[in-house]
Amino acid sequence: MIDEINTKISEYISYFVNTHESTKNHKNYWREPIVAFADASDPLFSRLKKVVSPEHFLPSEILRNCESVIVYFIPFKGDVVQSNSKGLRSSKEWAEAYILTNQLIVRLNRFLSEKIQNMGFETVEIPPTHNFDEEKLISYWSHKHVAYIAGLGKFGLHKMIITEKGCCGSLGSIVTDLKLQPTDRPKNEFCLYFYNQSCAECVEKCPFGALGIDDFDRKKCYQVCLSNAELHSKIGYADVCGKCSSNVPCSLKNPVREDREKLDGRKVRK
Ligand code: SF4
Ligand code: SF4
Repeated sequence: MIDEINTKISEYISYFVNTHESTKNHKNYWREPIVAFADASDPLFSRLKKVVSPEHFLPSEILRNCESVIVYFIPFKGDVVQSNSKGLRSSKEWAEAYILTNQLIVRLNRFLSEKIQNMGFETVEIPPTHNFDEEKLISYWSHKHVAYIAGLGKFGLHKMIITEKGCCGSLGSIVTDLKLQPTDRPKNEFCLYFYNQSCAECVEKCPFGALGIDDFDRKKCYQVCLSNAELHSKIGYADVCGKCSSNVPCSLKNPVREDREKLDGRKVRK
C-alpha cells in the first residue's frame, strides 16, 4: 500500500512536469523528473544539523509529526546545458531555465500539497531557492543535502548532487505527515573523481578559481552568481553560474554507472 502511494506521488510529479503550462509559451526545458523519499526521522537529518549547519531545520521543525520528505530532481534538456558550456557568463537559456524551473517547482509543490491534503494529510511546501542566510551563506533547508539523505543522488567534486540524470537541473522538496517508503541510498559514488579519480573537469571548467580539488570558495562563487543575476535581470532573478556543471561527464547522467557497465561489458541503459 505504501509503495503504491510512493508510485502515485512519482506519477503526479511526472505528470505535472510533462504537462506544465509554461511549456506552451516557452521552450520545453525539462526531461523526465526523478523522485526519492526520506524518512523524516532518518538520523542523517540530525547529523546535518550538527555537522554541516546548526541553522538547518529538521523536518519535524517544519511540520510537527512529519513522517516523510519528498524530494525530486527536474533535469534540464541537453541543449540548455550545451548553451551554458562556453564563455564566462551564464547563457540566457540557462538563466531562463533556472527561473522557469523555480516557478514550476512552486506550482508543483502546490499541486502535490493539494493531492496529499485530499488524502487527509498535512504538508509544508518548501520554496525552491533562497532558503539561506545571504551573509553567512548557510542554508536553513538544503535541497542538495536532503536529496542526498533521500537517496536521490551523491555529491560530486563540484559540491552539487549528481543523480541518475546528471546534475544540471533543479531540486524541489516538500514535507508531509504521510508515511512513505524511504528510498534506499545508493552505495556507489556517482562522481568519477570519487570513484576512481579519472575526472576533475568541473575544477578545470571553473573560470573564476572558486572550485578546487580540496576547497570551494563559496563567497567567490556567490559573487559570480550575483553578477549573472544582474546580467539577466530583465528576465527575472537568476543568481546562477553553472560553468562547472555544464558539458562535463556528470551533466546529464551518472557517469560512474555508464563506466561500470562498460567495464562489466553490460548494456548501458539510457
Ligand atoms: S565533472 Fe567529473 S569530477 Fe566533477 S563532479 Fe562531475 S564527474 Fe565528478
Ligand atoms: S558555479 Fe561558477 S563560480 Fe561557482 S564553482 Fe561553479 S564555475 Fe565556479
